[in-house]
Amino acid sequence: MLLKEYERLVYSPKKAANFIAKLCWPNYQRFCPSCKSRKFKKLSSQKRKCLRCNTIFTDFTARYFNIVRIKPDDWLRIVKLFEMETRPDEIAHQLGLSYNTIRKALTSIRLAILANSLDGSSLIKHFNLYSFPSKKKARIQNPPVFGLIEQEKHVFIDFLPDLDLESFVHLKLNFKLPSKKIGQIIYTAPVRQYLSLLVYDHKITTTYNLKHQGRYIALDGNKNFWPFAKRRLHSFRTTSELNFLLYFKELEFRYNYKQKDFFLRLLKYLASFIEKQ
Ligand SMILES: [Zn+2]
Repeated sequence: MLLKEYERLVYSPKKAANFIAKLCWPNYQRFCPSCKSRKFKKLSSQKRKCLRCNTIFTDFTARYFNIVRIKPDDWLRIVKLFEMETRPDEIAHQLGLSYNTIRKALTSIRLAILANSLDGSSLIKHFNLYSFPSKKKARIQNPPVFGLIEQEKHVFIDFLPDLDLESFVHLKLNFKLPSKKIGQIIYTAPVRQYLSLLVYDHKITTTYNLKHQGRYIALDGNKNFWPFAKRRLHSFRTTSELNFLLYFKELEFRYNYKQKDFFLRLLKYLASFIEKQ
């Protein structure tokens, strides 16, 4: 989106709201988010009530936009600042919103990115991410193992459900798979068709006394995705398995769409329905 068009939208809260509503309902063909019925009535509150299942809904119900209550024009600003990789405290300061609201908004954006990635559905099912980030204490039990593939100008951070932490430890101990670490992130020499495996080190190094010897690893010689990711990994606070999951899906997205209309694509992702359990 051109900057002038962006300015025109954020200048008017009404235009911003209409723009986002149009992303949610591309042909203005509204339906009930619970039962998909097109029979509903408009209430005086501007909400709609389904005549089949009685669900009351707004234009944003059950979408990623709805996880946190933020005005449409502020959503546009947050997504723009996210695109520019602005720090969360700076976004909160610029918009006069609380730090917690911004953290929640950023998690919603990252979750929408994950959900719209190739293996999004399987990640959501496997890690039970339906209710994130509204559940406060939700945690991932078994952290994912990712496999990195680079093809032409694209990168794929594939979730490998058949390779869990146990099999990773087995590869390390019995096959001496070379690896290195950045913060809590372990990356390895090539495995199968993957240039590297990526694992979040939640105590596995200390529990199994693993060595991440500083030998040359093929990924270190990569001139495309890895330098792009490495620079950002240092500033990510990868303090949980969930962040690990969200950050790598964000990096995959940022890398694959860096030349394209990133902003509009993110808004479309936020307008998509949250998958139901
Ligand atoms: Zn309904």
